[in-house]
Amino acid sequence: MPKIYFIDVTNRDGVQTAKLGLSKLEKTMMNVYLNEMGVFQSEFGFPTTRHETLYLRANLELAEMGVLQPIRLEGWVRAIPSDVETAFRLLPGIKHLNLSISTSTQMINGKFKGRKQQQDIIHDMTGALDAAKTKGVETVGVNAEDASRTDTEFLIRFGQAAREHGADRLRYCDTLGYDNPFTIYETTKALAENVGLPLEIHCHGDLGMAVANSLAGAKGTIDGGQDTYVNTTVNGVGERAGNADLLAVVLALTKSKQFAEKYQLGQPVALSKSWKIAKFASYAFGLPIPINQPGVGANAFAHASGIHADGVLKDPENYELYGYEELGRGDPVMVETGREIIAGQYSGISGFSHIMGKMEVQFSSREEAAEILELVRYANVEAQKPLVEDELLFIAKYPQIAKKLLTLTPLA
Ligand SMILES: [Zn+2]
Repeated sequence: MPKIYFIDVTNRDGVQTAKLGLSKLEKTMMNVYLNEMGVFQSEFGFPTTRHETLYLRANLELAEMGVLQPIRLEGWVRAIPSDVETAFRLLPGIKHLNLSISTSTQMINGKFKGRKQQQDIIHDMTGALDAAKTKGVETVGVNAEDASRTDTEFLIRFGQAAREHGADRLRYCDTLGYDNPFTIYETTKALAENVGLPLEIHCHGDLGMAVANSLAGAKGTIDGGQDTYVNTTVNGVGERAGNADLLAVVLALTKSKQFAEKYQLGQPVALSKSWKIAKFASYAFGLPIPINQPGVGANAFAHASGIHADGVLKDPENYELYGYEELGRGDPVMVETGREIIAGQYSGISGFSHIMGKMEVQFSSREEAAEILELVRYANVEAQKPLVEDELLFIAKYPQIAKKLLTLTPLA
């Protein structure tokens, strides 16, 4: 039986979202948390974008060091040979890529204004695939942008060409959130049956159905006989109304009525990390978690009305589908209510040593402490808000990596 995997795109779709962004250290922490959670792959950034280069290299180094293992780090580029060339020139160590190109008549006509037809789209995509294969890419996915508004017959031809040129996966992008569970089921099933490649399901929430469509797309793919890789983001951040929320998709796949009896995850996901990753993403993006967010919202396990409170006190299962402990919630949180010493971009050695000492980090020398402090100052310049404990610990543990993450050299 084919299985379900996750490709999280927070560090690509999430950070390209209007009014939202992450520092390079924050993007790295997201990869660390996604790895801890058991997510199969992180679409960790843009290999052709100059300010990403050192961040991407540093994260590939973390993978080599075994820190970002077993998660796979994959970069997003346009499906044109020149993007693939640039990606390998800037990032010789890149092993996994996704190549993206528009496939709908709307976008082919609306973007290329008569300069490209369907056969040109296939030509560009297969050219990019050939280039990636020549460069020695380990795995490569092909993204059909606006697939849900693309004629299925053309999508099948597009997917078959991708398979013939060595693609490992086809990404079905419901770029505008246009699908519903019934249509995406039919299309993904037809694609899985006729293309013969595992499918990625990439859904957006413009009509409020990103999670439902992800489930239906996964089911369609598996019923068509292929593995499926659901694209998610943490807290559902993403273009416009957002992407399918990682936690909500995991919960839907594993807890919704009768689904998991037949459709199963290829590897376990540590739900117990959900709370931590959601809180970090909320802080890093500067985006509060809605009170009614599945699993991690402030009201997800709150009960006030008489009948509900009485019911849940007698047996939580009366009004809760799953327990908060499963998601890593319920631990007491230490909140400083008195004097606070905080690390910032103008911090000095005394305050910094005090902060690190509270986390039981000891430096071997004053020089070492000064060096870590310097990195922490730069990290604060980039983030423009206090670092969380895990970020401070990360910098203290991997100063050389942190230095790369914090180095931005424009127009070099
Ligand atoms: Zn998207």
